Amino acid sequence: MEYKIALIRGDGIGPEVVGEAVKVLDVIGAKYGHKFNYTDILMGGCAIDAVGKSYPDGTAEACKACDAVLLGAVGGPKWGHSTQPEKRPETALLSIRKDLGLYANLRPATLRPALADACPLRRETAEKGIDLMMVRELTGGVYFGKRDRYQTEDRGVEASDLMAYSELEIERIGRRAFELARLRRKKVSSVDKANVLETSRLWREIMHRLAAEYPDVQYEDVLVDNCAMQLVRDPGQFDVVVTENMFGDILSDEASMITGSIGLLPSASIGDTAPGLYEPIHGSAPDIAGQNKANPIAAILSAAMMLRYSFKLAAEADNIEQAVDAVLADGWHTADMAGESEKSLGTVEIGQLICKNI
Ligand code: NAD
Repeated sequence: MEYKIALIRGDGIGPEVVGEAVKVLDVIGAKYGHKFNYTDILMGGCAIDAVGKSYPDGTAEACKACDAVLLGAVGGPKWGHSTQPEKRPETALLSIRKDLGLYANLRPATLRPALADACPLRRETAEKGIDLMMVRELTGGVYFGKRDRYQTEDRGVEASDLMAYSELEIERIGRRAFELARLRRKKVSSVDKANVLETSRLWREIMHRLAAEYPDVQYEDVLVDNCAMQLVRDPGQFDVVVTENMFGDILSDEASMITGSIGLLPSASIGDTAPGLYEPIHGSAPDIAGQNKANPIAAILSAAMMLRYSFKLAAEADNIEQAVDAVLADGWHTADMAGESEKSLGTVEIGQLICKNI
């Protein structure tokens, strides 16, 4: 099969880590008989330098002409000060998510066996294993509700942010979570605050309706405060965790912390029709850019997610993940994971070892 992949290499370490992910994809292509065709797309600070805006005209159309998008990272101090939105790299990130209709953010939090020591939780908790998928609603809720600020008569200035969710928004993210659970260990934990919030009560009603449609998937409601505690007490109990935008923002960062280095964690943002967007959770790390120090594993695992979820190539995705685990099990690492030692390697060398293990 042939697949078209849009590459947004971006800024800072973005081009370095995407470069390694592409090498891994090509090795996978050669082994399994697939051809990956790449289209380079300029976005972020490098686009500001080249054409004066971070999200050049035609970016969304170019991405939509591909089957999936692989993004490195965008931004950096060089472009941090403009007051014009089109000259800010983050504007491009928000625009592309909106234009591609990416309403579901998937963030796996997996403790790779060789890195159990990097887990800040108790050893017996880490030894039970952590392998959960956080599914965060990305385009609704309080981050997108009406904002207001006004003068009151007796309490000074008051501000408000409206949190609203529609049946459509809840149902489509819920369905994503149940479908994902079917590809994993068949359990969905839906996180809300239904003892207080009306949006959560609607959320729960719709999740219960969906749970009846997926009798093969085990379902539970979890209050958000309890979920925050359970993630540090016993994260092994979770498989797919689905939640609204703000709760997901906070809980997905908590979940990523319990699994170790930022350089290891991939993510996906997906919608109904347009290509999914796959990217490491880290930023452009300007402090180490261009020094062959960046950890390429998050970008490589993002490419594995792309194979699994956009192209339905599960065996190929498994192969990449196993190759990463094998390299880590041999003790090889980049400096961010365990400091400099005789086993620490650069970006390109770690990429080469992963390719060799495939
Ligand atoms: P960052 O993730 O870039 O860096 C935080 C720290 O982690 C730094 O010390 C960095 O060296 C280290 N680090 C990050 N990724 C690493 C990797 N792969 N290997 C080794 N070390 C790694 O976060 P930041 O410093 O807050 O942001 C830097 C820039 O990136 C900012 O302009 C920010 O806006 C942007 N950013 C972009 C995205 C994105 O493109 N999706 C996400 C987050 C931040």
